[in-house]
Amino acid sequence: MSETTDQMRSELDLYDTMSRSIKTVKASDNKVFRFYCCGPTVYGPAHIGNFRSFLLQDVMRRTVELTGLRTKHVRNITDVDDKTIRDSQKVGKSLKEFTQFWYEKLTADSEKLGCLKPHLEPGAVTHIPEQIDLINELIEKGHAYATEDGSVYYDVNSWDGYGGLSRLKNREIKTQQLERADSDEYQPKESLVDFALWKGRKPEDGENYWDSPWGQGRPGWHTECSAMSVKYLGKTFDLHSGGVDLIFPHHENEIAQSEACHGATFANHWFHIEHLMVDGGKMSKSLGNLYTVDDIEERGHTANELRYVLVSGHYRQQLNFTLESLVAAKQALNKLSRFGQLLKVVANQSIPFQFKSVIKKRVGDGDWKFFGKAWDALLDDLNTPKCLGHIFSVIKSIEKKMSSKSISIEDLGQVARELTHVLGALGLALPEPEAYDAPDDIKEIADRRWKFRTEKNWELSDSLRDELKDLGWHVMDGRDGYQLVPLPGSEK
Ligand code: AMP
Ligand code: ZN
Repeated sequence: MSETTDQMRSELDLYDTMSRSIKTVKASDNKVFRFYCCGPTVYGPAHIGNFRSFLLQDVMRRTVELTGLRTKHVRNITDVDDKTIRDSQKVGKSLKEFTQFWYEKLTADSEKLGCLKPHLEPGAVTHIPEQIDLINELIEKGHAYATEDGSVYYDVNSWDGYGGLSRLKNREIKTQQLERADSDEYQPKESLVDFALWKGRKPEDGENYWDSPWGQGRPGWHTECSAMSVKYLGKTFDLHSGGVDLIFPHHENEIAQSEACHGATFANHWFHIEHLMVDGGKMSKSLGNLYTVDDIEERGHTANELRYVLVSGHYRQQLNFTLESLVAAKQALNKLSRFGQLLKVVANQSIPFQFKSVIKKRVGDGDWKFFGKAWDALLDDLNTPKCLGHIFSVIKSIEKKMSSKSISIEDLGQVARELTHVLGALGLALPEPEAYDAPDDIKEIADRRWKFRTEKNWELSDSLRDELKDLGWHVMDGRDGYQLVPLPGSEK
C-alpha cells in the first residue's frame, strides 16, 4: 500500500483572490510567514459563521507551520464603531467595559474550538494616534480631504488602483458606495463614492470621541486595519484574510489606504473564506437560525464536533450547516478515536498517539508512508474534505492489515506519527472513544477479572485476561473500571 504521491508538495498552494489563481504562499523574508486577519466587531458573541472564517484561518496557519515555517498572526479587534457604541449605550456600560466583555467571550469560545491564539490582537481604540498619522499622510499626499463637520474622506478618484481586488467596474463601485454613503449619514462629501477615514463627533457618540487635527471624532471602520497592519507586519506582508463579504468594500478600501500611503504592495496573497449558510439560507437573528458556540453546546454537542463540521467543507465553497451534521461529526470523531485506541492496543501502548490534545509534530517531507495523500490534499489549496476522505480510507485499509497481522509495530508507529501530523493541521482533538458493547459472556469474564485485579490477585486476573484475548477482546484498565476493545482479526 502506498498512500504517498510521487510528487508531494512541500509548501502550501492557496487560491489568491487578487490574481484569481493558485499561488504558493511564501514568507517573503524567508523566515516568518506574516499574515493579517480581519477580526470581529466585539458587540456580542461571535456566531458560527464568524468562526468558520477564524477556523479556516487557523487550519491555514497550522498547515503553514507544519510545512516548517514560523508564523506571525495578527488579528484586529474592532472595538469602536456604530454598533459597539450603540449597544454599549443600550446596556449602560462604558465602551471599554462592554467590548472587553465580548472580547473575553470570543477568547473563551476560540479556545474551546481549538483555535491557536493570534500572536497579536490589536484593538482600534488603543491605536488612535497610528490612525491619525495614516490619515495625515493620505491628506498630505492628496488622497484624502477634510470636510466642514470635522470628518475626513478618502478620495477614491485620486488613486488609480481602486477596484483591483473586487474587479468591480467603476459604475458598480459608485452604486454600492452610494448606498453605504446614504446609510452613513456623514455629509456633506465632495463625491459620493468616497469613504470616511475619520468621522466628526456626533451627539450620539456620547463619550466616545478622540482629539484629532480635524476636531473631535473617531476613526472610520476601514482605517484601523491599514494603520495596525503596517505597525505590526510592515508595509508589505505575506497574506491577508477574511470572509468573502470583506472583499468589497472593506479590503478594497484597506488596499487603497495602504498602497496610496506607502507606495508598496499591501499584501502578497489574499485568502477569502466563503460564507457559512444555515439550513440552505443566510444566517440571521430574525430567522432564529443564528447559532453561537453556546447554542450548539446547549443542544448537547461539543465545540470539537462543531470544529469538525466547520473545517470539513472546502473554504472556497459555501458550507450549509445543519444540526444533523453535528451528529455525523460525532460519529466521525469517534471512528478516529477508536482507531487511535486500536493502535495503542495492537502496539502494546507504545504508540506516540495523543487522544486529548493533538500535538503538532512534523513529519518530514520525504517521510510519508501512509497519510501522504491526506497531507498533500491540505497543501493543495487547503482541501479539507479531500484530506478527511483520504484519512478515513487509509484508516480502513490499515485496520484490514491489522486484522490480517500484516503490518509491523514500527509501521503502526509511523501511522500514528503521520495521523497526528494531519489531525494537528486540522486542529482536531480526539475525544475519549465510546465504549464497545461486548456480549454478556465476555462482560461476565471481564467483571470477574476486574474483581481479582482489585483484590490484587494478579495470577487469576492475568489468566482471565488471556482467556479474553483468546476470545478476541482486549481489556484496557482505567482507574475506576475497564474497557473492552475488540481485537482486529478475531471473529466475533
Ligand atoms: P464581523 O465581526 O462581522 O466583522 O466578522 C468577522 C469575520 O467573520 C469576517 O472575516 C467576516 O467576513 C466573517 N464572517 C461573517 N459572517 C460569516 C459567515 N456567515 N460565514 C463565514 N464567515 C463570516
Ligand atoms: Zn480589516
